Amino acid sequence: MLAVASQNLIWAQRFLEMERLQNLSEEDRAAEAKVVDLDSTEVECPACQAAFNPADQPTCPGCGLRLAP
Ligand SMILES: [Zn+2]
Repeated sequence: MLAVASQNLIWAQRFLEMERLQNLSEEDRAAEAKVVDLDSTEVECPACQAAFNPADQPTCPGCGLRLAP
């Protein structure tokens, strides 16, 4: 927990976000930016980058991560 004066809240949040991003690896930043569109006919698994159609199979063929309900 971090306590800051209310007038410093925005700056504290920005500083913490900046520090969090600096501590991520390039691979982690790329993974964080990924969006999986489950309505698409082909998605890229966020865990192993295997491509597959979530309408055909709800789990990734590469690692078994379940993406679709
Ligand atoms: Zn996978």
